[in-house]
Order: sequence, then structure tokens, then C-alpha cells
Amino acid sequence: MSAPPRFFCDDHLRRLARWLRAAGYDAAYERAIGHATMLARCREEGRVLLTLDRALAERAGAVACLLPSHDPEEQLRFLAGRYALDLLAHAFTRCPVCNEPLVEAAPGEVDVPARVRETCDRFRRCARCGRAYWEGDHVRHMRERFRGLSDV
Ligand SMILES: [Zn+2]
Repeated sequence: MSAPPRFFCDDHLRRLARWLRAAGYDAAYERAIGHATMLARCREEGRVLLTLDRALAERAGAVACLLPSHDPEEQLRFLAGRYALDLLAHAFTRCPVCNEPLVEAAPGEVDVPARVRETCDRFRRCARCGRAYWEGDHVRHMRERFRGLSDV
């Protein structure tokens, strides 16, 4: 199996970056980054540049992917089709905020509300920002949306 694609979301695509990360895909995003810097990083790190900017996509050439919609859900559906992404297989293995892979954490290692502790005993934690993740309503809701976007 080939390595999963890695992405760079341009500075208008913050929501898409979070969705891709939530689905487990490596999606870089930086606010107010210059086009030249972004293109250099795409080439160095083997990332596909995702953008809505036609001129930027033309300038970037083969490393760019011009998105057909401004709607994050439609963008994700499009990418899932184009790059054969599996939105569910690796969902919630990466921090949506930092793009950092999550690590398994024991209940004592995470700072979560008591009511969560009563219903959950499996947690993941981001080594960079320390946020904890678990199978709560939010994660279940996102899984449902990913499932919906996967039915093409
Ligand atoms: Zn994080």
C-alpha cells in the first residue's frame, strides 16, 4: 500500500485542515504564510497544496489541487474521491488543532470532566498541546458525517 497523501491547506482552508486531521490525514496549515514559503514546503515535504485560488494553483503546477467548492464538507468529499481517502479508518488518530499524531493515554494521564471519566476509559492525548480526546458525542457526530461523505 502506498503512503497516504499529505496536504498543505492554504490560509483560507482552516476548517478543511481540521477535518482532514480529524480523519487522520497529515494536513499542514499556517495562518498568513506566504505563497512562496508554502510552495517550498510542499515540494520539500511532498505535500499536495490545496487551494481555492486559481492563480496560485496554476503557479504551483503539479503540486497543487484546485478545490471545486468553498464548503468544507464538499471539499472533503471531493478529496476523498480524488485521493481515495478512507475517512473512517484512521479517524481521530491526529490532533485537529496541531496536526500531531495522538498517543494512547491512561485515564489518569488526561484532564477530562468527571462525567466523561464515568462513561469512558479509553483516551488519546496530543503530545504537543496536551488536549485529550475520547469517544464522546462530538466524535460520534463527526464519524456520522464522515460516513455520509464516504458514500459516493
Ligand atoms: Zn494538539
